[in-house]
Amino acid sequence: MTFPFADAPNTAALTCCHVMEGQKPILYVSHDEDDGMWQFLCGGQHETSEGRLVSLHEIFVQDPSVGELVYMPCGYHAEREAADAPWRIQKKDIEGVLHMAEIPHETGELRFRYTRRLSPDGTKWIRDGRFEEYCQNGNLVSEGYYEDGFEEGYWKDYHDNGNIAAEGVYSCGKEVGTWRFYDEQGRLEEEETYGDA
Ligand SMILES: [Zn+2]
Repeated sequence: MTFPFADAPNTAALTCCHVMEGQKPILYVSHDEDDGMWQFLCGGQHETSEGRLVSLHEIFVQDPSVGELVYMPCGYHAEREAADAPWRIQKKDIEGVLHMAEIPHETGELRFRYTRRLSPDGTKWIRDGRFEEYCQNGNLVSEGYYEDGFEEGYWKDYHDNGNIAAEGVYSCGKEVGTWRFYDEQGRLEEEETYGDA
């Protein structure tokens, strides 16, 4: 299995004794805003003495499903109800004031679903957090994250038939690193490398 994180496999990560000893599954993952530290916890309340320092690689071997979260930006956390339930990714700290927007196509099907918050002066909405756009057949057109109104982190675009059309990383609304573009059959058509990743 390929190690999927951008961080080195020996990067230190925080977990708890319950996860370490296999008593409980990982139900809470945090990618810390200040230092980029990953935390993989069982979801309960913890004393400092229950914390354990491990490598990202150890955690990934123990539970490869955390690989679904490799593109979760710093400042976000993910929770799930059980080891086989889907992750719910949310932005830290401002959860309470984030507003979920759902905007339909003219014909009624869902087109956009994203989180946003009001600007400090209350005059406009700023996209912040998860963003999804759908076509009328219900397939995803585009998915990724906004940070303070700008695209940030890993984004994917899709063809109407559901196959991936493009993938790459944004930083402050600009493409960075290598972007890959695919035709409708999912074949790689083009790679383009932008500024510093
Ligand atoms: Zn625990």
